[in-house]
Amino acid sequence: MEVSLSEQIENTAGYPDVVCFSEPVTIEGVLKNTGKQMVLNAVCCTEAKILCSRCLAEVNVPIRFQIEETFYPAGYTEQEKEKEAETFSDDRIDVSGIIKRGILAGLPMKVVCREQCKGLCSKCGKNLNEGPCSCDHTEFDPRLESLRSLFNVDEEV
Ligand SMILES: [Zn+2]
Ligand SMILES: [Zn+2]
Repeated sequence: MEVSLSEQIENTAGYPDVVCFSEPVTIEGVLKNTGKQMVLNAVCCTEAKILCSRCLAEVNVPIRFQIEETFYPAGYTEQEKEKEAETFSDDRIDVSGIIKRGILAGLPMKVVCREQCKGLCSKCGKNLNEGPCSCDHTEFDPRLESLRSLFNVDEEV
């Protein structure tokens, strides 16, 4: 049986860092009834809006994952099915748990709007992508210092 689903996730509770889902969740695939089990093979896609971890701009992050899941009839004895297996009853399968797990696994650890994002000024909070602020940024940065000493060595050679 061909499966084609599309549903908007309105509730972002339980999805850390997700502001909202900018695209509905779509599931395209095949559901096979093997007699005892239902086997779902599908591709799941959606798009989440997540805040840039540096400047807090909203970033659209596409999420796409493969679902390969076996559903057992509800009431199937525990010995016969794998631990924590998904179940179905009355010819209805619940894919919400699978989708949630897939999305959580597909969410990036850290989102930046662009590689060169300058972030917010730690003093005044201005978005430095929009231009420099008037704060004094000549703080001692050990990483920069070590880079400088490397360059100095090169110059002396
Ligand atoms: Zn950013
Ligand atoms: Zn500033």
